[in-house]
Amino acid sequence: MSTIAFIGLGNMGGPMAANLVKAGHDVIGFDLVPALTDAAKANGVGVADSASSAVKDANVVITMLPAGKHVVSVWTDIVPSVAKSALMIDCSTVDVESARQAHALARKASLLSIDAPVSGGVGGATGATLTFMAGGEDKAFAAAKPILEAMGKKIVHCGDAGAGQAAKICNNMILGISMIAVGEAFALAEKLGLSHQALFDVASTSSGQCWSLTSYCPVPGPVPSSPANNDYKPGFASALMLKDLTLAQEAATSVGAVTPLGQHARDIYKTFAAAGNGGVDFSGIIRHIRALADNRGG
Ligand code: NAD
Repeated sequence: MSTIAFIGLGNMGGPMAANLVKAGHDVIGFDLVPALTDAAKANGVGVADSASSAVKDANVVITMLPAGKHVVSVWTDIVPSVAKSALMIDCSTVDVESARQAHALARKASLLSIDAPVSGGVGGATGATLTFMAGGEDKAFAAAKPILEAMGKKIVHCGDAGAGQAAKICNNMILGISMIAVGEAFALAEKLGLSHQALFDVASTSSGQCWSLTSYCPVPGPVPSSPANNDYKPGFASALMLKDLTLAQEAATSVGAVTPLGQHARDIYKTFAAAGNGGVDFSGIIRHIRALADNRGG
């Protein structure tokens, strides 16, 4: 069993740290928000008063932070205090460039490191069923895998430094685009007098089948567990989808890739979030699509 420092005990980090405790690891956590460290303490996580004191006896360090600037800043702060044999893992969703900067900080201090963003949301974090997509050297991935297995059910080594973030960004661009496509199909079906269930029964077993339809249906009824049945409470907030679609656009620009639907999806989520819907589940985009027709007097 390992001694693990866990920095960032928010919606995802809190339950992930609790699962590491359940798996028998010693976990020392830190977050800037005292209420979150108190909640972690109740789940058996030891609490430190700073990130650098959390890491000093750790042989594994995990960060789960909002964005790339937080990761680079926290890694810059803690790397000098981390033991030389330790492994650094960043599970946040960040831009590829920041992920590579974090790897470089670790490499300079002769530490193994991986970027390992996740898919599966708060439900996956709580149930230890996350998918991890990892980037880094084989040796670092091999060391990280048993730790990640305590928090997830599928661990994929995607390639070198930054490859985990690249996979995450590409996956979520598919997700954002496909959720808009499914929302448009239901909005059109409503206007055509086709019932939600009829469209679902056909498309879920036809060539329109996709995760946004079959696991996360944006209308209430066909998939009882989808946020549409719970007034679009997240789930996965539209603000986070906007963040990931923006990362995809930045990545595309940086390498000269052209992703017109990814760009359009980002713009649609930007408008939706700017209208006060950042906290609404991303499947709530169907409301925005319906409103477009209403605004046309349709
Ligand atoms: P969150 O805002 O709930 O948690 C982030 C935590 O980091 C906060 O508690 C914040 O106080 C803490 N923090 C920020 N700066 C810090 C610092 N310098 N030192 C210590 N703590 C600091 O966010 P979340 O929902 O847990 O998401 C975390 C990451 O996971 C994000 O990158 C997000 O994009 C990604 N993600 C989230 C989901 C989801 O459904 N919530 C799903 C997949 C990936």
